[in-house]
Amino acid sequence: MENATLLWEQVKEIARSQNYIPDSVYEEVIKPITEVYKETSTALVLVVENRLLKFRIEKFYSEILSKIYSDLVKENKLIKFITRDQIEAEEKEHNSFKTNQVNSVDILKSQRKLRPEYTFENFVTGKSNRYAYLSALKVAESPVATINPLYIFGDVGLGKTHLMQAIGHYVLDNNPNCNVIYTTAQQFVDDFVTVTIKKNPDKTQEFADYYRSADILLVDDIQFLANKNATQEEFFKLFEYLHEKNKQMIITSDRKADDLENIMSRLKSRFCWGEMVDIQKPDLELRIKILQNKLSLLITDPTLVSKDALEYIAQHFSNNVRELEGALRRFINYCVSFCIEYSLENAKISLDSIIDQPSEEPDETDFRNITNIKKAVSKYYGISLSDLSSASRKKELVLPRQIAIYLIRDRFNIPLQKIGEHFGARDHTTIAHACGKVETMIDTDWTVKQDIDNIMKMLS
Ligand code: ADP
Ligand code: MG
Repeated sequence: MENATLLWEQVKEIARSQNYIPDSVYEEVIKPITEVYKETSTALVLVVENRLLKFRIEKFYSEILSKIYSDLVKENKLIKFITRDQIEAEEKEHNSFKTNQVNSVDILKSQRKLRPEYTFENFVTGKSNRYAYLSALKVAESPVATINPLYIFGDVGLGKTHLMQAIGHYVLDNNPNCNVIYTTAQQFVDDFVTVTIKKNPDKTQEFADYYRSADILLVDDIQFLANKNATQEEFFKLFEYLHEKNKQMIITSDRKADDLENIMSRLKSRFCWGEMVDIQKPDLELRIKILQNKLSLLITDPTLVSKDALEYIAQHFSNNVRELEGALRRFINYCVSFCIEYSLENAKISLDSIIDQPSEEPDETDFRNITNIKKAVSKYYGISLSDLSSASRKKELVLPRQIAIYLIRDRFNIPLQKIGEHFGARDHTTIAHACGKVETMIDTDWTVKQDIDNIMKMLS
């Protein structure tokens, strides 16, 4: 561990002396981090004081720190962070694991798939989502007592996944032994197809048993079951089983159950058994409230941000909360990078390139069009088209860029070289690397897969 601590000190020193991180940020945020929690074969894990700090560092500085570290040890490695709360929770889990193996495994399984920040506390309510929020809370407080299933629907980026996972968090906080299983319909389809292709009855049974063991089953984006008849049949059986056993189900969708296309009517009618609630687009007042809330997660002193700037962002990003958040992150990132005020003026400058320019009408003809994919990806992540193709290696640009490249490669039969031309004349090996990277991430990081699903939805 001594060696690890030494390495970390070297990384810090390089970050400071070569100005990878602004001095003020270095002094306030990076310098105080002195404790190595553990060193694994892939990462160095450091202790930070709280979630806010962890969130901030991960958003802005993990990538560069990991790069410095990798260069130092001449191997691809990551710098990761853990809070003291998380260490405590890990230790608790570890201890209960010894006493009650089955339950702990289940908890680990289920908790892993819930995003830590998708809690009721972090969900801001207004006219457009209050009813859905209250229904979700009711379900979380007393599962199956009143509403089963709870069916939440609404357009992309309005908080369905957040709200559904908040139920999971709430239930687990009250009863850590409860087996909460979160999955996306897409994942369910993929898993089912995988086990059926193998024609191994044990695996098929294992699949069925896994979902049947749920006390609370969260199934996100159910519209993805469309046209998957065998999977629908399997899901129908699961639904009947869990309902019969009085287990709570929560389902989200981009539309009302009645409007689902190519999904068997038996299933649609089951979805209407409980309650159907919708989330609408947030009005200006709610958008401002959401920005204020997100701000407190991004910077230590939200009062430094001018009200005008927040209003400006709220006015220009009205379609969905994800875009709104993306714009806020971009603005904050911009001001932090240049050490400038969080003013209206700087909000305008930083967002200029992503606020819709009327002249840039999307190509009518199709989705089979590179620019449309680039636009969808940049809109989804709140970055500009030029950033997407730029040479910058910033973390918040690299992933979107790789995903855009992957989607184009996946969709069209275009030579890698040609794709490279659309991304600042990158060469074909870089394009191949990006595709491979995303393919691996799809298998290992469900959030990436979900992001891709959401982008596909925007495109269709
Ligand atoms: P959906 O599943 O409907 O596409 P998500 O639940 O993924 O949308 O929400 C998109 C982003 O917006 C998430 O980061 C989520 O935390 C945030 N978000 C949405 N609604 C709210 C809200 N009411 N308060 C706080 N954050 C929200
Ligand atoms: Mg979602």
